[in-house]
Amino acid sequence: MKFETIKKVILAAILLPFVFMLIEGVFVLRTSILQYRELEKDRQFADVLARGGSIAATEILSEIDATRRYLAHPSSGTAVDMQHSRLTLDRERRAFYASLPPHDTLDQGLAGELSALSLAYSRIVAARSAVDQGRYSGSNPGSIYWYAALKQLAVVDALSPLISDPVLLEKSNQLMGILLTYYGERLITGIGTRYLDQDVSARFPIELFIQGKTMLGAGMDHMVFHSTAPIVRDIVAYLGRGDQLKANAITDAILAGSRPSRPMGDAWAAAQRERMAFLQQKMVEAASDIHETGEQFSTLSHIHLTQILALCAGLLILATLVMMLAARGLRLIDKLARDRETLVGELRNAAQTDLLTGLYNRRGFDVAASALLTQAEHGSHWISVVLFDLDHFKKINDIHGHDAGDAVLRHVAGVARQNFRSFDLLVRHGGEEFLALLPDSTPGNAAIVAERVRQAIEAAEIPLASGDLLKVTASFGCAGRANDAANRNFEDLVKRADLALYAAKASGRNCVVSGPVVPAPPQEERRKTVSGGGFDSRI
Ligand code: GH3
Ligand code: MG
Ligand code: MG
Repeated sequence: MKFETIKKVILAAILLPFVFMLIEGVFVLRTSILQYRELEKDRQFADVLARGGSIAATEILSEIDATRRYLAHPSSGTAVDMQHSRLTLDRERRAFYASLPPHDTLDQGLAGELSALSLAYSRIVAARSAVDQGRYSGSNPGSIYWYAALKQLAVVDALSPLISDPVLLEKSNQLMGILLTYYGERLITGIGTRYLDQDVSARFPIELFIQGKTMLGAGMDHMVFHSTAPIVRDIVAYLGRGDQLKANAITDAILAGSRPSRPMGDAWAAAQRERMAFLQQKMVEAASDIHETGEQFSTLSHIHLTQILALCAGLLILATLVMMLAARGLRLIDKLARDRETLVGELRNAAQTDLLTGLYNRRGFDVAASALLTQAEHGSHWISVVLFDLDHFKKINDIHGHDAGDAVLRHVAGVARQNFRSFDLLVRHGGEEFLALLPDSTPGNAAIVAERVRQAIEAAEIPLASGDLLKVTASFGCAGRANDAANRNFEDLVKRADLALYAAKASGRNCVVSGPVVPAPPQEERRKTVSGGGFDSRI
């Protein structure tokens, strides 16, 4: 398999699972964020419900009672109590408004109930100043507070459809049920007590009484249909007690137009007051239960947020790790590719290089020479070869040993490499014989270069392992021809150089002999390449 393909496969193997993990991570993250938002929303609603419920269950009623006490017995003590209850109601109202979700996220119904509630509170503020200025002496501001309480209930009721958590929804219904029941009972008790206190001729305010009964019924419906919570079971059990059932019977009798005896009326009023105190306590419990639920949501939403952050951090770390892994993998593949190229290069070199001298061997020379000749063909340049052979080399082996002979071969190869031109191709042609291919060179040029090499070899002092210095000579044969595509007979050129070398050996060695110059054949004769005749010169 190609390295590029391996690279792609490894990249895919690293990145594909990561991409899937990333998609899954993003999905989980999105779900978590949605859950977090839901939790935050419910937490906020729980907060609003708990505060709204608490205002209706406690603060408004406290201020009504404190104001009544003050109006009945104006004194510094009752005034302080009244001021205190006002401050508490105002503080809770501020907290209630602060806990509301942003105005633009509220639906129209809730927004309408909230503005009605604001109006109801501004009437309370007006009533307070009227009480302070003594304009209420003898009368009762209860209806103003009553209206505000009803509006507070309406807001709590309008919040329910916006709640998505089922537990919170149940608790909201439960609270609403208890509030309605309480306010229904309060209306019935207030009207009933006043009616029984009045003269027999007094008209019974049947509309208000029915309103109270309706609220009561709606409250019980809210509780019984929407909740099986212990708090509701407590209330149902309480209302099923004998004295409470008896009080209900008296209530129905009053509603039917009969007027119970004074002791019976007093017993009814006492039972009703006890019932209201019980319900008020349950209202407070329900509101604080919702508050606790809100706290749980808050904890949960914080855990969620931490999870989301941890998930983000995890994904980030994972992404970094995978990127690092991928980069490392790619670097490794690149390194392997480079190593492989180097190895292949080394193997190719080893296959093409003579191990003793470091020059080309025949195979390497063939490859390089073929490329060089093809290149040279295009310009019809001259090409020459120089063949040279060490003189009496056998004697060196015989006298100094084979290793010394090797050292001589190495040394001579080095001298030759230094003295041929950088673009000449040099090959160990066999044994102690070397061949050089001189591109773009006439035989005359080749002979000059060969003479330079010959002199350098003659001048060289070759150190042997024994410490001796050895001097050698070599004989040179040169041949050249014009080079073109129609005349590729390189072997013929070498053969002519060999003949020239032979002539050099024959004429006493340590000299350069040039073979006859073969000019480029005319175009029509190029197919018939001719080898040169005798030797023309000895330098
Ligand atoms: P001439 O001047 O006629 O060329 O005589 P010569 O002795 O150089 O030629 P000959 O062909 O008689 O001997 C060549 C010797 O070179 C024979 C062979 O043992 C030796 N030879 C060939 N290759 C190597 C080699 O790699 N290392 C060593 N040390 N000797 C080698
Ligand atoms: Mg020789
Ligand atoms: Mg030889």
